[in-house]
This record gives sequence, C-alpha cells and structure tokens, in this order.
Amino acid sequence: MAKTIRKYLIAGNWKMNKTGSEGADLIREINLGLGKQTDVGVVVCPPFTALESSAKALEDSNVQLGAQNMHPKQEGAYTGEISAVMLRSLFCTHVILGHSERREYFNESDSFINEKVVAALDSSLKPIFCVGETLEQREAEQTFEVVKTQLVEGLKGVSSEAADNLIVAYEPVWAIGTGKTATPEMAQEVHKMIRDELSSILGEGAAAKIRILYGGSMKPENASELLDQADIDGGLIGGAALSAKPFVELVKIAASK
Ligand code: PEP
Repeated sequence: MAKTIRKYLIAGNWKMNKTGSEGADLIREINLGLGKQTDVGVVVCPPFTALESSAKALEDSNVQLGAQNMHPKQEGAYTGEISAVMLRSLFCTHVILGHSERREYFNESDSFINEKVVAALDSSLKPIFCVGETLEQREAEQTFEVVKTQLVEGLKGVSSEAADNLIVAYEPVWAIGTGKTATPEMAQEVHKMIRDELSSILGEGAAAKIRILYGGSMKPENASELLDQADIDGGLIGGAALSAKPFVELVKIAASK
C-alpha cells in the first residue's frame, strides 16, 4: 500500500554476490514468490556482470532492475567503468549511488557522487542515493551534521522536478552487514531530519514525494516496526536480499501496511 502519496519500495543490493546464472535463478524464485503484486515497488540490484541475465529473467515481472554504481560520464577513456547509457541499454531503471562501501573503500567524495546523481537523473535513471554516519560520528553526536552535508553536497544542481525520480536511502554505516539495526525511533529521527532537509533543498512538495529507505540489517524480524515509522518508505536490503524467502517476506510485510 502507500504512505499518503509515497508507495513503499523494497530494493535489494546484492553487492559482489551472484554470477549471472545464480542471479537469474534468484530472480525466478522472487518472481514465483511475489507473483504480479504492484502494491509495493520492488527493485533488485545485481552486480554488473549479472545485469543482462537478470534483465531476461525479469521480462514478465513487475520487479525492476538497478545497478550498484555508475560513472558520471557517458563514454570515454575511463577503464573499468560503466555509464548510465550502458545501464539503460540493459533495462536498468535504478542505480545505487554513494553507498558507504563506495565512499569508504573507493574514496568516493560527495562531489563525485553529486556528479553521478545529476548524470543518472539526466539519463532517466532513478538514483538510490545513500547517506549515513559512521559509529564514530554517531558517538560524537555528529549524525545530523554529517547526513545534512551529504545531502546538500550530493544534491547540488538537482531540481525539484527531479524529485519524482529521486530515492534517498539512510544507511547508518554501523548497521550495515553487522546485524545491528537502528531502533525504529532512532531511524525515524534521522528520516524526519532528511525529509526536512530535502524540503529546504528541493521544496516541500518535492520532499513529500521522495521515498526515504532505511538500510542496515533490515530483515523480516525487524521490518514491520521500521516500516511503521512516518518517514520510512521502504528498505535497502543487503544480506536479506541474497535469498528469495526473506526478500519476498519483506515485500509482503510492506504490502500488508
Ligand atoms: C546495504 O549494504 O545496503 C545493506 C543495507 O546491507 P545489510 O542489509 O546487509 O545491512
């Protein structure tokens, strides 16, 4: 169902897991589990090498396809990189940008992520733009400041008209892949701040439409309470997206709201 004007979205980030054939098998299982439901938006984000087989497996499905990264330039001498045009040619509709693993292990800066967000929107790809604080930053009470800077810098040059295509994911770094989840209240507090900040950057109307996903060890056992929060519009799911059962279960929990 929907939260006022926002439909829940459950997105799976497979990270560096699944070959092309393993990915297609997982999608077939997800398709079987979900049937043709349209109450909840569902996206899977396989690694680049599994996008083509995943797109084929998704041909008659309502599940959409996303990538986990892209380069801001359309083409050129950028060895090892993949552009928005290439992702569109593989039927991708979404792309995860600014994931904390890319910020940390590949030194991606706010301004580089900003270039990608703008390029994705220009190419009609929906960015799932990730923000979040580290444990150190949370303990130093810098969460709001850190997330606010990531939003302001990452969304430079984005217009309020682009809001229909923009998705934000709040992922506290200390909760990713650790089994530690933010309590629903902790998550809601930051989601509310994010929506307020989106309102000052893009305007109130745009902010009301943008889906803000929670990410960080979300699983069927803790999803319901998180999804009940006023500003949590879905989940970006890592570990629990790697097999069909918990992933399908998460979509069903969102659909039951
Ligand atoms: C992620 O990496 O986007 C994520 C939320 O991972 P996990 O669900 O495994 O914490």
